[in-house]
Amino acid sequence: MRMVYVNGDYLPETEARVSIFDRGFLMADGVYEVTSILGGKLIDFAGHLARLERSLNELDIKKPAAFDDLLEIHRELVARNEIDEGLVYLQITRGSSGDRDFVFPDPETTEPTLVMFTQSKPGLADNPAARKGIKIISIEDIRWGRRDIKTVQLLYPSMGKMMARRAGCDDAWMVEDGHVTEGTSNNAYIVSGNRIITRQLSHDILHGITRAAVLRMAREAQMEVEERPFTIAEAKQADEAFLTSASAFVMPVVEIDGVALGDGRPGRIATRLREIYLEEIRKTAV
Ligand code: PMP
Repeated sequence: MRMVYVNGDYLPETEARVSIFDRGFLMADGVYEVTSILGGKLIDFAGHLARLERSLNELDIKKPAAFDDLLEIHRELVARNEIDEGLVYLQITRGSSGDRDFVFPDPETTEPTLVMFTQSKPGLADNPAARKGIKIISIEDIRWGRRDIKTVQLLYPSMGKMMARRAGCDDAWMVEDGHVTEGTSNNAYIVSGNRIITRQLSHDILHGITRAAVLRMAREAQMEVEERPFTIAEAKQADEAFLTSASAFVMPVVEIDGVALGDGRPGRIATRLREIYLEEIRKTAV
């Protein structure tokens, strides 16, 4: 049985418990991170830890006592569950003061809740979807204004995935004021010639850990990078498109709202970037 971590204890998943008054449960008052595992090692752990700290700071959630042990706990869970390829999910909520109240509980007396678990995903790196490319639809972005904070408030992204599924597609890109913000759980890119175009960082999008690594590697490989908003009309005209996330890595997009991009197959740049990313990022895995 899977072993999970809850507030200092490693437990079988069926024995793990969190209060019904936990603010994560009642108010989505919590943040999370997802770190991939390849070859039993954590991918870009330092990046995920830095973003976690920033998310906590932005929401005034105090660090759990075990914050400095997070690397060790990640490794322990990977080892105990014998994960070769997969994920570690981490969630920190503001905890429970034993009742429901909009006002934040006193951090002196209320400990944050720290929960972590693994998901085994054999074939994560050698994903057949990456050889075929995926199809996306566009939907309106109606989320709140601090998308740079990685909160567990994922209802709309989840609805977006369902809209995509109902349309016979794999995912959705969200559009605000006529421009693409990001995917339901990924950052969005188009390619024109040798130039990669992706929205610049702001409160409008999550600052993807994979985005940062991929753009750095693209520049090192002499590809041009332009950080600006783009429209769905521009995307449909692009030579290629792709998305990035910690678990999809670099995923080619071959169709947007029913329009095939280029020859309808994964593009040269997206395919090359996936190879470069997987090769380079394994070198710094811990
Ligand atoms: N945007 C959103 C809305 C996301 O949920 C994610 C995945 N957590 C990303 C972008 C990609 O971020 P990362 O590369 O850090 O996984």
